[in-house]
Amino acid sequence: MVKLRIEYDRGGCIAAWACVSIDSENFAMNDNEAKADLVEGTKLTVEGDKWVKEIETDDIDRIIAGANGCPVRVIKVINMDTGEELAPGKAE
Ligand code: SF4
Repeated sequence: MVKLRIEYDRGGCIAAWACVSIDSENFAMNDNEAKADLVEGTKLTVEGDKWVKEIETDDIDRIIAGANGCPVRVIKVINMDTGEELAPGKAE
């Protein structure tokens, strides 16, 4: 099991669906607002629309793929044990 922190800048979401289709455990589309929601996430700030969630998982590759699939790179995945930023990767 790996401890991960998912940070999501929801304000920048353009509803491209990539995160939802790859990682439906952590992301769900909010049809009313045309934004993805971080499932069971916690809102960080009153201003802006930033969310966070800390999980223990064996499904690290799928979570990274979901974050890397986001075209506007608003999903960050951090390994909480090492502090390493696992996603998003470098822009192509
Ligand atoms: S992949 Fe990015 S832009 Fe697309 S729905 Fe998810 S957060 Fe929003």
